[in-house]
Order: sequence, then C-alpha cells, then structure tokens
Amino acid sequence: MNNPVSTRHPFIIPIFLPHAGCPHQCVFCNQTSIIGVGPNTVSPEKVEQQILESLEYKGNDRRPVQVAFYGGNFLGLEKDDIERLLNVSTKFVKDKEIDAIRFSTRPDSIDHYRIDIIKDYPVSTIEIGAQSMDDHVLATVKRGHSASDTQQAVTLLKDRHYQIGLQMMVGLPEEDEAGSLSTAHRIGELEPDFVRIYPTIVLKNSLLARWYENGTYRPWSLERSIAHVKTLFLFFKKKNIPVIRMGLQAAEDLDSGAAVLAGPYHPAFGHLVHSEIFLDMATTVLNDMKVNHDSVIIKVHPHSISKMRGMRNSNVESLKRRFQIRSLKIVPDSSIAEDSLAVSP
Ligand code: SF4
Repeated sequence: MNNPVSTRHPFIIPIFLPHAGCPHQCVFCNQTSIIGVGPNTVSPEKVEQQILESLEYKGNDRRPVQVAFYGGNFLGLEKDDIERLLNVSTKFVKDKEIDAIRFSTRPDSIDHYRIDIIKDYPVSTIEIGAQSMDDHVLATVKRGHSASDTQQAVTLLKDRHYQIGLQMMVGLPEEDEAGSLSTAHRIGELEPDFVRIYPTIVLKNSLLARWYENGTYRPWSLERSIAHVKTLFLFFKKKNIPVIRMGLQAAEDLDSGAAVLAGPYHPAFGHLVHSEIFLDMATTVLNDMKVNHDSVIIKVHPHSISKMRGMRNSNVESLKRRFQIRSLKIVPDSSIAEDSLAVSP
C-alpha cells in the first residue's frame, strides 16, 4: 500500500538501526560512530517509545509526519524483524498520528520477495544507498553490489509506485570529480524523486581509517568537496531533482570530533554549498555591471539572507574586496525567489 506523497517537507521521526541488516561493513562506514549507539536492532517496544516521545516533541507542528528507519539496511533484516518494526509504526498510521513510513536500504536488498513483505504497509518512501555508479569504485569500497543493482532496484520500486531517494557519495577512493559527475548523470537518468549527497569522511574504526593511516587514501579537502558538491547540486537542479541533503547530519560525536579521523566534515556543509552558489551568482551580476560601485544593495528572499552573507559574513567581505565596494547591504525581499537575487547600485 502506498500513501499519496505530500510535497510538504515532512516532520521526520528518525529511528536508527546501526548496521542492522548489513551483510558486512562498507569501508567508509561506521554507523556506530555516526549515531553513537551500539549495533542492535531496536526492539518494537523501543520504537513505540521513540515515536511517542517524538510526537510529544512535535507539538502543534502540522506538517505530515513520517517514521524513518535509517543507519542500516532495512530490507536486509529478517522478515520477522521487518514486520515487527512495520507493525508497530503502522499502528500510529492507523491512529492518524503519523502519515507514512520510510527507510533506507541497499540496492541489492530490493527484490520482489522483500517488496512483497512490505507491500501492505504504509511505506511511502524508500532511500537507496547507491554511493557510486562506477563498478570499479563500488568494488574498491567493498559495497558488494553493482551499479546495475541500483538500476534494477529503481525500476522495481517505480513499478510499485514508491517515492525513491538515491544517496551518492563524493570523494570515494578511485573516484575523482569527472567520475563523480558521471555517477550523477547516471543517477539523473534514473529520475529519482530526490537525492542526498554525502562527502566521504574518514570515520574512526572504519576500514577507510586504516587506509588513511597507512597512506592509501587521502580524503578531499573541505574546499574541494564544497566546489564539487556545488556542481552536482546545480546539475540536479537543472534536472528538477531536489537535493534534500548535502553532508552528514550534525551529531554530537561528529561535532566533537570524537568520531571523525579526517575529511571534509562540517556541521553546516549544505549551508556552505548554498553560500558558494549565492557568491557565484552575485559575482556574475557584479561582473556584468562592468563599472564598480561605491555602494551596492543585494536583495534576496528572507530565507536566503544567511546563504547570501556566507559563514561569518564571508561572502560580503569577499565581494567588497573583489569589487572595491565600500557599503554592501543585504536586504530581505520576499518577492524574490529563494534561489535568486537582485543587485542594484
Ligand atoms: S554503508 Fe550502509 S550497507 Fe554499508 S555498512 Fe553502512 S549502513 Fe551497512
């Protein structure tokens, strides 16, 4: 059973199942460090308790509510476990307290048998960890599946009318910018409903950490990652495929550095990418103005003020320096689209 998908950004109740259902550990992964809890399948009782607590926290928020099983390979769980977790969540759907269920899973766990297990449950959205569409890269990072598994999984889920999200990573071993862009092209051809883009971080106790320590793997810098993810974001935007997340979700262990050994982790990675896009847009317009102006006003949608300003006003300072502007004001204007700006002297 598939629920109609609301276009509104849902209120997500995340339930983390670290490494549950995973056939092995992919080289870049250590869900236990990302999430900070041990590798156990969460019991239905615990899920029920987490849903109740989150609903209380949600209060009067009127967005559609979804329970989301993340951090493992949902369809790789035993049939009984899948059904137990879905049964407890479905109770809340029947009571109209939540609208739908979503989960993330590996492409090679999606087949007719497993889709038949979930077909009568109110699952609306399935996220597939594609990571790369290059079989050599997938083999290097020991994913244990191929790009054609992702293609077949998407075809199967489309036939069953699920909303599909594809996750890709950048900075994986053996994949440079050109390779990553071709992964994005192949993902674009599959026409998912949305994508997530994750820069590769070296997490402690992952196999990648060993490769980093013995010099086999060098992570991308933050600047390189931002520049490339910006290219990918603009590519997907052109294809009308929303990018709903760029960068790992900030978590206490990640922010404190306890889980991160090296790599381009930043708690506001997506914001940094958006800020770069606004800086590029303003630079293009100011370049086109030909003459430098002593004072300039940039109007943006109120939601885009901080993206235009950049971290600690860095975009404002950079534009002032580059175009010798004495006074540069960023002014909110709700008539302007959120991804646009208007510049006037
Ligand atoms: S990347 Fe996904 S499939 Fe691989 S170990 Fe991590 S959670 Fe499991």
